[in-house]
Amino acid sequence: MPGGRYAVVSCHVERPLDDEVWDRFSALQARRPGGFRIAALMRPPDQEAGEDEILWLGRAQAAAERGPLGLHTHWTAPDHARPTNGDPAGRVRQQAEWLRAHGLEASIFCGGGWYLDPSVAEVLAELGYADCTATAFRPGYLTADAPRLGASEPCYVQLPSGRQLLELPTTHSLGMLARGLLAPYRRSVVHAYFHDTDLIDPLRRTALAAGLVFLGAKRWQVDLGQLQRGLRPAKTMSFANSAP
Ligand SMILES: [Zn+2]
Repeated sequence: MPGGRYAVVSCHVERPLDDEVWDRFSALQARRPGGFRIAALMRPPDQEAGEDEILWLGRAQAAAERGPLGLHTHWTAPDHARPTNGDPAGRVRQQAEWLRAHGLEASIFCGGGWYLDPSVAEVLAELGYADCTATAFRPGYLTADAPRLGASEPCYVQLPSGRQLLELPTTHSLGMLARGLLAPYRRSVVHAYFHDTDLIDPLRRTALAAGLVFLGAKRWQVDLGQLQRGLRPAKTMSFANSAP
């Protein structure tokens, strides 16, 4: 798998227990607009918030049958993605182990609020995950010194332990696809993302479907699992030389 001309699509599944949001996402994932097997990057149930584990597991199993399944950690609360204190890497390990203990094979990660630090990256590499938290764009709501990783093409992240983490950066939002920002990515992998909650809005829903059809016409449709298994990027980076 040489790496160019491919596109993948992922969804940050923020509200898996909301029936309307879930029904919209399920239908889209089953329909495969543009030919894409959309990865469901799911936020595990929040026990403190009393979220229903059994319903969640049923939905995650259904999503895993339709596309790659990934872990999307929210560190603070269902509606507060980035960590505010505690042990971010510990929470990722705990959630990954919880998924495995419940029979779910997830090996793709995207940190909520685009949060990634070297300790989280070490846990991911140790558990055999590929990461999608690096972004080719700078999220507007983050301050300049907020922990994140910038990268515009697949690479390995060299970690202090000596391990390497396969990085499959997120390159395009829905809006960026709609604005035609595909051209600079001629030689690299496009990874477009959206949120399940985008699907409640009829305008966004239409724009998303059109964007995926457009992307599918321009690129070879693969999925994150195929990239994880087949891509061996030549480039290596580290947190110290993260792109802006
Ligand atoms: Zn999120």
